Amino acid sequence: MEATCGEIGNKSSPKPHVGFLASPGMGHITPLFELALRLVTQHNFQVTFLVITTDSTAAQYNYLHATPHPDLHIVDLPPADMSGLLFEDMKVLTRLCVIVQESIRSLRSVLLSGLNNRPKLQAFIIDIFCTGVFDTCKDLSIPVYSFFTASTILLAFSLYLPTMDREVEGEFVDLPEPINVPGCNRIRTQDLLNQVRNRKIDEYKWYLMHVSRLSMATGIFVNTWHDLEPEWLKGIKNEQFFVDIPTPPVYPIGPLTKRIESASDENADVKEVMTWLDRQPKDSVLFVALGSGGTLTNLQLTELALGLELSQQRFILVTRTPSDSAFAAFFTVGVDSDDPRAYLPDGFVERTKEVGLVVSSWAPQVVVLNHPSTGAFLSHCGWNSTLESIKHGVPMIGWPLYAEQRMNATMLSDEIGVAVKMPVVGEGGETVVVGRKEIEQVVRAVMEGEEGRKLRRRVKELEASARQTLSCGGPSYETLAGVAESWKRQGCAMTTRSCMEPG
Ligand code: UDP
Repeated sequence: MEATCGEIGNKSSPKPHVGFLASPGMGHITPLFELALRLVTQHNFQVTFLVITTDSTAAQYNYLHATPHPDLHIVDLPPADMSGLLFEDMKVLTRLCVIVQESIRSLRSVLLSGLNNRPKLQAFIIDIFCTGVFDTCKDLSIPVYSFFTASTILLAFSLYLPTMDREVEGEFVDLPEPINVPGCNRIRTQDLLNQVRNRKIDEYKWYLMHVSRLSMATGIFVNTWHDLEPEWLKGIKNEQFFVDIPTPPVYPIGPLTKRIESASDENADVKEVMTWLDRQPKDSVLFVALGSGGTLTNLQLTELALGLELSQQRFILVTRTPSDSAFAAFFTVGVDSDDPRAYLPDGFVERTKEVGLVVSSWAPQVVVLNHPSTGAFLSHCGWNSTLESIKHGVPMIGWPLYAEQRMNATMLSDEIGVAVKMPVVGEGGETVVVGRKEIEQVVRAVMEGEEGRKLRRRVKELEASARQTLSCGGPSYETLAGVAESWKRQGCAMTTRSCMEPG
């Protein structure tokens, strides 16, 4: 548990008020909500957290309502009319951007309604896919901050993308050399995020539009800290290219991650998983989970299951109905449980029941990562999962699926040294099926070999650094405290001005 400075601020004056809006998906909601909780519990703010309601977000609902606080007001935006706008085969980002675009049409009237007579918003914090909010808040004179919920490597690449779009002809994935982001390490074209692998499709256009608007933010929060990504943070701060954009001030305030799920009796999933983990030896269990939406093909899931069985290691396997789309469950997270026996290899669940626990659809990930029996995490390398793993000192096996996960996996293995990559990406950037034998070898190397011990030593260093940066006096804590103080000062100035205006 990190040490904090406790609640700061004058308790008699009205608490300054900050608004939040996150696009759908746990990967965005989690860090924004954790930031909201910090402002409320550590910096004496009140927060209105606006939620875009999609039709199927059980995990999202449970998470948002698990930590009630009198100064944290969760407000649903009126559901938008999506009729005729969403199609079966729409890519996930396009779908998400259309939902956000339609949902924020009501934002102006929601903000003008005074949010139940709370004070005027001091600042509004959004994620990268809510940049339509810049226009609404400009009219209302509310400064907007972007919370970039992914890595600094992706932030640097995204700030560079509009320039690449102007200067490069053809597809980025066909470039003969890795991408040279100014002042930063080079990015292999095989690792480029899905959204920029085909410039002709809508997903690319949406992504480019949103990142082009990053410079409209008053500041950019990033869910990282100096010791994790020193070179990338230095590059964005010092390189002339970023100064010239101009890039708004960048504030590393992470790692802000989901807190440990409650192990109360009502929460059957948590209890079952904890009871099982309690019976296993220290560092002996491989946790296999591919994010909130990740899915494997039938063939790949079969190979994974049989590779786990061959490795003879203990495991928790979170499974979802196989699909040819790598993110089939993104909009149905937490509501799509099924019987894994229907699609896992015949007899697998029975044969492995002494060493394995199969969980359908959704597991209490932070409980698992926090448990002493968990020895490694086979992860899709989503940024939240990455931070959660490091924060709990668990080395990773990277199995990237979509979005920027390939970039993350490469950085975690080649630069940071807390992961090995499963060879799921071919030389040409294509997804390849990894066979059971190869899976067995990688799993054994991480769970039993010298490679695993090396990763574990490195991740333990970063675990300590993550705790320190968020503690009172630590860099991330102080960075947020500095911004919070500036909001308070502006609030005082506004109050003084309005008191002095002639009536
Ligand atoms: N998660 C979870 N249980 C699961 C799968 C995912 O609690 O079975 C949580 C995980 O702890 C993390 C989030 O869902 O906070 C996934 O975010 P990430 O950025 O890693 O990936 P995304 O889902 O956005 O691809």
